[in-house]
Amino acid sequence: MRLDGAAEPVRAERPLVATRRQNDLAEPGLGSVGLDPAVGAVPTDGQLRAADGLRAVGDITGQGAFTHVAMYQARIAVRDVLGRPGPDAD
Ligand SMILES: Cc1cc2nc3c(=O)[nH]c(=O)nc-3n(C[C@H](O)[C@H](O)[C@H](O)COP(=O)(O)OP(=O)(O)OC[C@H]3O[C@@H](n4cnc5c(N)ncnc54)[C@H](O)[C@@H]3O)c2cc1C
Repeated sequence: MRLDGAAEPVRAERPLVATRRQNDLAEPGLGSVGLDPAVGAVPTDGQLRAADGLRAVGDITGQGAFTHVAMYQARIAVRDVLGRPGPDAD
């Protein structure tokens, strides 16, 4: 295997490749609703409200990058959008 910019090839029996993900808040234009696109996650209140008329759920909230977290948050946000009272996200 040859890595970008490396003069010599890497020799190994088994390669292990690790990657990471990060939110890109500038690309969807969150600055246009008054949120700082330079921060790594969208801050919300307990009902997942991020700005007036805007909810944020899932990885973009920085509260744990897991499917079940996104679904948990989505249930709270949808309930709030429908005007039904309920507990904040825990
Ligand atoms: C390799 C891998 C393995 C994982 N394994 C697990 C696991 O085993 N268990 C677990 O719980 N979680 C796992 N996760 C995490 C899980 O996938 C995420 O936490 C979950 O998908 C978050 O849901 P989300 O809706 O926030 O984001 P996503 O599922 O990423 O959905 C975001 C959507 O928004 C779209 N989008 C992005 N930008 C824009 C834009 N500007 N305009 C319009 N659309 C846009 C994207 O195309 C995407 O469809 C894994 C993630 C990865 C990458």
